Amino acid sequence: MEHPSSSGGGMRVEDEVEVEFPLSSISDLSLDSASTSGSAPGMARLSRYRGAPRLRFFLNGEDVGGLDVESAQVFQLGPIQSVCIAEQPDKSKQNTAAFKIQFKTEEESRAFHQRFKCWKDEYFGQGGKLIVSSGSTGTSKSKFDEKIEASSAKMYFHYYGQLLHQQNMLQDYVRTGTYYAAVVENRADFSGRVVVDVGAGSGILSLFAAQAGARHVYAIEASEMAEYARKLIAGNPALSDRITVIKGKVEEVELPEKADILISEPMGTLLVNERMLESYVIAGDRFLVPGGKMFPTVGRIHVAPFSDEYLYIEIATKALFWQQHSYYGVDLTPLHGAAFQGYFSQPVVDAFDPRLLVAAPLFHIIDFTKVKEEDLYEIDIPLKFTATVGTKVHGIACWFDVLFDGSTVPRWLTTAPGSPTTHWYQLRCVFAQPFFVMCGQEITGRLHMIAHNAQSYTIYLTLSAKMWGPGAEQGEILQTSSGKFDLKEPYYRISQPQAYQAPEDQQQPLPFQPQDLNVQPQDVEETDLLEPTQNSGIDFS
Ligand code: SAH
Repeated sequence: MEHPSSSGGGMRVEDEVEVEFPLSSISDLSLDSASTSGSAPGMARLSRYRGAPRLRFFLNGEDVGGLDVESAQVFQLGPIQSVCIAEQPDKSKQNTAAFKIQFKTEEESRAFHQRFKCWKDEYFGQGGKLIVSSGSTGTSKSKFDEKIEASSAKMYFHYYGQLLHQQNMLQDYVRTGTYYAAVVENRADFSGRVVVDVGAGSGILSLFAAQAGARHVYAIEASEMAEYARKLIAGNPALSDRITVIKGKVEEVELPEKADILISEPMGTLLVNERMLESYVIAGDRFLVPGGKMFPTVGRIHVAPFSDEYLYIEIATKALFWQQHSYYGVDLTPLHGAAFQGYFSQPVVDAFDPRLLVAAPLFHIIDFTKVKEEDLYEIDIPLKFTATVGTKVHGIACWFDVLFDGSTVPRWLTTAPGSPTTHWYQLRCVFAQPFFVMCGQEITGRLHMIAHNAQSYTIYLTLSAKMWGPGAEQGEILQTSSGKFDLKEPYYRISQPQAYQAPEDQQQPLPFQPQDLNVQPQDVEETDLLEPTQNSGIDFS
């Protein structure tokens, strides 16, 4: 990939190069005797000149002609051969201009066709005259379209197309600051490297990567935010010539070269909400060189039972409305049961005091460099805890963290209770029927999450407390609570910004505060971090 500062001559200052594709030969078919280059290095360049798109061809760095982009059509003649035809704006010559081009590889040919289509769509909208006969770019559905309902995707990308939502993420300083630190402290992983920003949004992570010396960053963004990202990047000229924004889904776009490292912020509530981790894993398969890095590298979902009578009463009270026997003379009680179940099927999102946990948390680890996309369709976490207090268990609390396994300084971003609050907060699944435990009692169960086509998960949760005291030897289960929750429909229980208060005595850790909160980068041993502990990854930190 070349860019203006390093590309050959024949280019004017105003010509902003967007992307270039190497060619092994170019013939101008409109000339009486077509000029062909067999050995000289050729190139097709998509650029922007005074805001308008330009498609031009170069031989040995010399401009040998271009095409009117609006009327341009590209036909694939063979795996690496194509012909580009357009109307000739200068009618004094022939009516059409045409170039036959040959790519060096099939991959580069595919990349050109895909990129040209998206690029033209960006300027002239869909339904242009472009014809691309390459298999994957035709009418066949992408992996994203196959599994995600169109209406969900539309709302999703509409949301991310708005600056206010990007600002909300940017203003999560725990989040953005940790990404910044992870990138600049690990310059060695970025300097001179090709980077792909998966779901670039405003382009902030691409700019960080460029600050850390990336050779080139491809910023892929499917929503309308891509246009704002272009603006933001263009307004940072020290970095902009090393960043190319590509509007499209990571499942669909093609890149002209492989990447050494991916950077992305694909985490949703409970890590997996939005199902963007799957896109991140697909991007790894599609764009990364073998052994390439991923930032973040792994994620962990932490789970612990909690006790919170106030929360339970608050939820149950919402359904009381339906207990009225005469609401304007109407008996509402037939719907009370359904309303009660409905409120308890909403996972609660807020920041809670970690002292509400009634057992040490365990975690489930997802290694983004190894996990298969399909493995994320169903996530099954066996649960086993030992109660540290005698109390009522109202459900389970969950949070996540991710590791940037940088070669200089590994760094964690955590959303744990008791840590500085992030815009993800924490998530709690509350049972309609809580149960009692004694101190020392074992609690077992299962957290089973099944992905659905609205970019989220259905959560099935079961917890059981084993019998306690005389007769326990029989191993009989005394109490079981279960619930079904829709991660897509959480109850945001956040009344005002949560101020983080550091524990008064830093030496006195809060009960069950995950030890990784105190992890110093130099303490991190890859094996410690990447290997789940035995017994399904129980974390007694
Ligand atoms: N990287 C930015 C934005 C993160 S939000 C930041 O850290 O601030 C996630 C972004 O990924 C959204 O802008 C969303 O539109 C985009 N996105 C999600 N799925 C995508 C996909 N499959 N292809 C391309 N972009 C995607």
